[in-house]
Parts: sequence; structure tokens; C-alpha cells
Amino acid sequence: MWAFVLSEIRHERELVIGAARNDAMNLATAFEAHVQSTIRLMDIVLLDMREDVLENADFERHVREELQAYGSFVAQLAVIDKDGQLAFSNLASPVKPVDLSDREHFRVHRDNPQEDRLFISKPVLGRVSKQWTIQFTRPIHQDGGFAGVLVLSVPTSFFADYYQQIDVGANGTIALLGTDRSLRAIASGTPIAGRFGRFKVPADRPYVDPDAPARGYYEGVSSLDGEYRLGAYRRLTAAGVVVLVMLSPKDFMAAHEERKEVLLASAGVISLLLFAVAVLVFVLSSRYFQSTARLRQAHDQLAQFANTDMLTGVSSRRAFLDGLDAELARARRHGECLSLLMLDIDHFKRVNDVHGHPVGDVVLKQFTIICAALLRGHDLFGRIGGEEFAIALPNTDVEGARCVAEKIRQAIAQAHVATTAGEISITVSIGLACTEGGQHDADYLIVQADRALYQAKHGGRDQVHAAAPRPLESPPS
Ligand code: GH3
Ligand code: MG
Ligand code: MG
Repeated sequence: MWAFVLSEIRHERELVIGAARNDAMNLATAFEAHVQSTIRLMDIVLLDMREDVLENADFERHVREELQAYGSFVAQLAVIDKDGQLAFSNLASPVKPVDLSDREHFRVHRDNPQEDRLFISKPVLGRVSKQWTIQFTRPIHQDGGFAGVLVLSVPTSFFADYYQQIDVGANGTIALLGTDRSLRAIASGTPIAGRFGRFKVPADRPYVDPDAPARGYYEGVSSLDGEYRLGAYRRLTAAGVVVLVMLSPKDFMAAHEERKEVLLASAGVISLLLFAVAVLVFVLSSRYFQSTARLRQAHDQLAQFANTDMLTGVSSRRAFLDGLDAELARARRHGECLSLLMLDIDHFKRVNDVHGHPVGDVVLKQFTIICAALLRGHDLFGRIGGEEFAIALPNTDVEGARCVAEKIRQAIAQAHVATTAGEISITVSIGLACTEGGQHDADYLIVQADRALYQAKHGGRDQVHAAAPRPLESPPS
């Protein structure tokens, strides 16, 4: 989503910038036409008047007529004599003589008497008109020599007012520059009227570089107000002026910026919502997994409690009988024998009676530890009840089982169980039954082993007694 939003914003930005460049160039083309026609018009007026000056035929009347026709944009019509003194002005004649010999628009013609060309000056503050004007001038030649200059002053506001009517945005600029890098006229949000005389465009700008193309695009920071702008220029080399239209991203990017903000805000809100949903899913699922894990743990614990005798840690009666069934099935599948030992501690009641129940518990625990130490890893050991235990010996015949039982009996008889009541010695009676190829079931085997245990008790205790093997056809009564 973010990749789409960002590429959409980038794409739209490129389109907007492309459109702004086109707009700037179109405006510059229109202004070039306007400037050209204005210059042509000024020159026609100048040439017209020069004829009148030379013919000396009622010059003042002609000036009045010209002013009536073009008065809206002409600030002053004047003649400077060959020494630079103001010879004529349509404005009220100054009391003192006015010396204009230092003016560029005078010197340029005086110093090049051979040339008859239109000169357009940079804006100057008129000594007679008292306003910022651009001088359109033509030299007057008489008898093959320089005789003075004909001056037509146009207020800079003539161009600026015209440009002001064109919508280049609140921060855009339209400027008429001289190729000498000085401003002729400008319409801009920036107040620069007082800087006409001094301001010069930096020399590195392509639009004032005579080697750069006569028309093109430019973008950069304005040396006038430090604002970044993008625009187009067209240079009128013959007239020595450049038309410059600069548009501000503040204006042409405004709609795009608004749309960009809406897009980014929407994407942000969607991201936040997705994030919130993800967090919710994460919290719920982790809670679910935690409770499932806790349930499994509780289940495992329960199973362990059910399968283990809490006092001694050996298998419970139920777990032992389940294990015995499984071992009998295995013996049946593999045709192996399996032996079962039933163990009962002798006169255990006395231990309790003499030393107390807790001591009896210690003895019971120690009894299982001694037995377990003598068994193999896959033998089953369970507590059947009270002080009675059972051991299943897989793949073990009667002789093997008798051997194990005897080892247990001896180990118990020799043990001295350390208790708080001192060392206690006990003995155990063991009954043994065996099944070949798993042909008998668990009940039968238990009854057989129990009988053998009974025999061992009656035989005087502390002994092992093996049940006599019986055929399958005659189950016990
Ligand atoms: P016998 O040689 O005939 O087996 O005599 P006995 O005293 O061992 O037999 P009896 O069955 O009369 O007594 C078993 C005693 O075992 C009775 C009971 O108090 C004790 N007993 C059973 N379970 C526990 C137990 O968990 N802890 C303790 N301390 N004693 C137990
Ligand atoms: Mg007993
Ligand atoms: Mg007993």
C-alpha cells in the first residue's frame, strides 16, 4: 500500500512539475510577443518624431498629437542636444538647464555616431518626470554627424501593470530583463521598486548568458527574494531583453500538496487500523496458545499424578496393570515369556505400630529404592496397595525371575533403613508366576503370583515362592 501511495505521489509530482514548465513557457511566449510589439510601436513613434525634428515642422504640435495617441504609456517625450543638455521635454520645462550627458542612453548614441539603432535603457529615475522609466532612444543625425538623441520614456509600471493582470500565482514572477543583467520591469509579490538602479541578475543564469540557447527552462533560488522558483525564459537578442516567467512551487504544487497530505493521512490511518488489528490478533492468539499450553501442562500433570504413586514414585496400580497388559500382548506377539513378582513386606503393621506411620512411610520409600536399583530399565514396578508391590519382568522365565526375586529378598533383608526412630530392618515375601508365550492374561497371572505369595508367607516369610505352571484349560477357581 505504501509503495503504491509513494509512487502515486511521485508520479503526480512529476506531472505537476511538467505542466508548470509548459505553463511557464506558454506565458513567456505570449510575453515575448507583447514585448516585441511594444518595442516595435515605440520605435515607430520615435522614427516618426525624428522626421518631425529634422524637418523642424511644428515639432511641438506633433508631440502633442503623438502624446494624445500614446499618452497612456508614454511618461515623457524629450530631445537631448549633441552636448547632452535637455533641449525639449513635453513636461514643464525645468527652470535650470538639465544635463543628461552622463546618461547611458545619451552616451551610447554619442559614442557610436555611425550606428542608427533603437536603444532600450535600464530603468532610471527621471530627472524631469521623477518616476522610474525605461528610455527608448534613437539618435538624431544631421549633416552626417551626431546631433542629439530622441527619448521616449515609458514607466516601468507600464510593463509591470500589464504583467500584473496575468495570473502567475501569488508567488510567481514575470520579469523583463536586459541582457546587461539589470531589471527592466517586474511583476512580483516582492517589493523591489527601489532596487531597479542597483540590482543585477547573477552572471551564471542561462537566460543572460549569450552562449546559452535563446529560450529554455530555469529553476533555482531567486537572487531577488531567495524564493525557489521554476520557469521559462525567452531572449530577444536584437532588443537586448529577456522575458522571464518564474512560477513558485508554493502555487502550482499547492493542490498536489493537499492531495498528498490526504493520501498520506489515509494511508497512515489504514496502517494504524491494520496495526491495531494485528496487535489484537497477536494478543488473542498468544492468550489462546498460552492457555492451550497451560491446559496441556495441567493434563500432563494430571496424567502423571494418576500414573504415579505419590509416596514412593513407582507406578500406580492402574498404570502398572495397563503396562502389564501391554507387555503381555508384546510377549504374545513375539512368543516370549513374562514373569510377575508379587511382593509383600513382612509384618509391616508392626513397623507402624512400634515407630509410627511416618516412619513406616520412610521404610516404604526406601524399600522401593532398593528394589528399583536391582531392576532393568524395561521392567515394570508398581504399588498394588498398602505395603504390596508387583514387578513385571518381560522376556524372563521362571528361573530368571526367581533369581531377580531372590536378589531383592536378600537386599531387603540385609538393608538397614535409616529413620528418625533409628535403623530398621525388614524382610519381604515374594510370590512368582510366569507365562510362556503370553498365553495367560493378567488376572490369571496375578492370581497365580498371589497364591505363590500366600505360600511364601505360610512357608515362614522372607522367602520366594514360585507358582507351579498350570495348563490353560484349567483356569483357577
Ligand atoms: P504380613 O506379614 O502378614 O503381611 O503382616 P503385615 O502386618 O504386613 O500385614 P497387614 O496387611 O496386616 O498390614 C499391612 C499394614 O501396612 C497395615 C497398614 O497400616 C500398613 N500400611 C498400608 N499402607 C501404608 C502406608 O501407606 N504407609 C504406612 N506407614 N503404612 C501403611
Ligand atoms: Mg499386606
Ligand atoms: Mg505385609
